[in-house]
Amino acid sequence: MKTCIFCQIAKGKIPAQIVHRDDKTIAFLDSQPKSAGHTLVIPREHFTSLLDIPAGLLADVVQSLQKVAQNINKQLKPDGFNICQNNGAFAGQTINHFHFHIIPRYQNHPPINKKDFLVLAKKLTNKK
Ligand SMILES: [Zn+2]
Repeated sequence: MKTCIFCQIAKGKIPAQIVHRDDKTIAFLDSQPKSAGHTLVIPREHFTSLLDIPAGLLADVVQSLQKVAQNINKQLKPDGFNICQNNGAFAGQTINHFHFHIIPRYQNHPPINKKDFLVLAKKLTNKK
């Protein structure tokens, strides 16, 4: 979809801090993070919500979701994390391209700023 910002990110036409990519999915840091390491996991192909994404692709996205969450857990050591998936504007979906949120939670709530953002992205992409 031409006007979809997530499709543009998936095609590399809009920059993002990408922390995972494979042939079906990508993951990148949320540009308006709710916590340090707040990451979005999306299919490269455009689907609006849980209602229209094919089940096989959903499984691929969930596999990436787990990998990225494991990496966040290892690199950032949060005290826990939430997985959120919103469907429809009334439910808080702001971009109409299917996505999961991974929101790490910390007891001590480290503040987030733009500088940390790049450091975090680097940390999450340097996999061992
Ligand atoms: Zn899209």
